[in-house]
Amino acid sequence: MRTTRSNTSPAEWERRLGAIAEAVGTDFAASVNRIADATARPDPFRVLVSTLISLRTRDEVTFAASDRLLSRAPTAADLAALPEQTIAELIYPAGFYRTKAGNLRRIAATLVDNRGGAVPDTLEELTALPGVGRKTANLVLGLGFGIPAICVDVHVHRIPNRLGWIATRTPEQSESALMEVLPREYWIPINQLLVGFGQAVCTPQSPWCSRCPLAGECPRVGVTRSR
Ligand code: SF4
Repeated sequence: MRTTRSNTSPAEWERRLGAIAEAVGTDFAASVNRIADATARPDPFRVLVSTLISLRTRDEVTFAASDRLLSRAPTAADLAALPEQTIAELIYPAGFYRTKAGNLRRIAATLVDNRGGAVPDTLEELTALPGVGRKTANLVLGLGFGIPAICVDVHVHRIPNRLGWIATRTPEQSESALMEVLPREYWIPINQLLVGFGQAVCTPQSPWCSRCPLAGECPRVGVTRSR
């Protein structure tokens, strides 16, 4: 693993990420962020549930499925009381909805039994819950608790590598490398920003380099075909 340009100034990061935000558009909001923003104060339980539903699922499906489930079960105790089959029906057609329904119910029961229904606020405790990996845990820490954490999904792994900000092979390495180079204030919003950018401009296959505000400075590491 190698990080690059670790001496990049805060002003330079602001310029880069500002350009990306402008390209994404201000109305972009990933479904998990929309679910998190739906209550006056951040609710880690809502973030945890919607993030689990979002895995391998399109944003529109995630938002609708999370809304259905959280309307019926707004707390861990409510969720633990629902039959697994009902949870599966409420989150259908989310990907792997049966597996997710089982994990959601087990997580809710664990939270009720061990923590009075509260979601934990450490990476170690979160990743000990069924079906919760680092990606989900970091999103819960960031969006649910406001604790600086970088949620590295496919976009957050791919795009900084293409741009040469980091040089890593795995999402775990990307998380560590980004923590070294990226100012802390961007750790939470970088996920939403790059998810939007990865869907609209720096797409997995054949990115839209002709529309990219960073095209003049991007080494396009690993890009073999672009538009
Ligand atoms: S120039 Fe192309 S590869 Fe580089 S960030 Fe922009 S879209 Fe992605």
